[in-house]
Amino acid sequence: MPLRVAVIGAGAAGLCALRHLTARPSAFTALGFEQTSNVGGTWVYTEDTGLDRNGLPIHSSVYKNMTTNLPVEVMAFPDFPFNEDLPSFVKHTDVCQYLTDYTDRFHLRDHIRFNTQVELVEPETTQAGRTTWHLRTRNVTDPTCGLEDHKFDCVMVCNGHYAEPLVCSLPGQSQFKGLVMHSHDYRHPEVFSDMNVLCLGAGPSGRDISIEMAPFAKQVYWSHKKKMGLYAPLPTNLRETATVASLKPDSAVLTTGEELRLDAFIICTGYLYTFPFLAPSCHVKVEDKRVTPLYKHTLHTEYTSLAFIGLCSNTLPFPQFDCQIRFCLAAWDGSMELPTQAEMDADTECDYKAKLATGEPHRHAHKLAGKQWEYYDKLASLAGFPPLPRILQQISDNIDDERANNILGYKHMKVEMIAPDACILKKCHE
Ligand code: FAD
Repeated sequence: MPLRVAVIGAGAAGLCALRHLTARPSAFTALGFEQTSNVGGTWVYTEDTGLDRNGLPIHSSVYKNMTTNLPVEVMAFPDFPFNEDLPSFVKHTDVCQYLTDYTDRFHLRDHIRFNTQVELVEPETTQAGRTTWHLRTRNVTDPTCGLEDHKFDCVMVCNGHYAEPLVCSLPGQSQFKGLVMHSHDYRHPEVFSDMNVLCLGAGPSGRDISIEMAPFAKQVYWSHKKKMGLYAPLPTNLRETATVASLKPDSAVLTTGEELRLDAFIICTGYLYTFPFLAPSCHVKVEDKRVTPLYKHTLHTEYTSLAFIGLCSNTLPFPQFDCQIRFCLAAWDGSMELPTQAEMDADTECDYKAKLATGEPHRHAHKLAGKQWEYYDKLASLAGFPPLPRILQQISDNIDDERANNILGYKHMKVEMIAPDACILKKCHE
């Protein structure tokens, strides 16, 4: 009998899960649940912020003029390239179209229940000691439909990790009279015309939003804890500063003691991992951006029929999803034997402690960055699928260098393949 698999979410991760599951009907039957009416997740742009028309929090964190910060040559799923006429760095609408094309190419739509929110996931253990999963879903457009109960053998959690803002609370923040916004709600730079704006946060959102606002704002301060000057040259009215110690009604006081007059304060401190639908009996802990107990950042070590896709950060997200999903399916179809629970927990702990030993903070437990290549290779070798092509690393490294040296122009570069395993970057347009 094929295993019945539930997939929560139809963003890139959920679609990839459905693509692999539906390709193997003798091993799996799959049903995806998506709380919105579309595929694409965070790439489905909306002008709205706050709640959608069904009363759900707006999921997308994409802004109006956003282009990708990775080239499509490394963004694509391994078995589905982007349209080759596109530039390397594309608009969010192109990524949304890509995911729509992927859905259509692999006939995934019929396997997804749209406007259906998963409210509850709980394990049920039979007398024979086998775990099955009880899911409760809700039709978000029609309250009269009531709740529906389902049973599955396995669950893939693909609910996305850029939707629930991690909001800082600084001394004096409630007294600040200017505009305060999390990057999740940022849509248009024009809103900040002629303002003195501070963007707090060292990640890609803080960096990219600071740069996008510079032509409109009077002065932009990009405030972060990282080393200064990692990206150059920056716009003349964009200044990197130390982080913020406190806010006053119309200014910010930095940790250096300097005071900056501000009209707006944008919080770019990232997002939280949240799984509001998991019952306590799932035994999943989320502690300051670390989710446990997971083997290889993806499979629950106690309930190995529960998987989490896409928790790792500083990666190539779509290739990461593809590898994690193939890895989980190999565990579920029995083609890969998993270590014991104790061995998996020990492996996770060893990885985590090694990370702490290099000076990384606890909250970077799932951050991979330069370690991602080894990680993908490990998943592939354990599960017996082909590793990702090495060229992805080369392209990625070249782009990282270009980004650091040419932050204002790197998105105008095109990745040109000069051999199957070699590429160069070429300037395509200004
Ligand atoms: P999402 O796209 O968030 O999809 C999750 C889906 O699950 C959503 O459709 C949601 O509605 C649904 N869902 C959630 N909870 C439930 C529930 N209880 N029941 C039913 N459905 C549910 N990646 C790149 O590769 N390149 C980039 O340039 C890039 N830039 C980015 C810029 C920004 C501003 C952000 C926020 C992210 C960026 N990313 C980028 C990362 C991006 O998040 C990933 O590429 C990827 O799209 C994440 O896919 P996902 O499926 O994990 O999550």
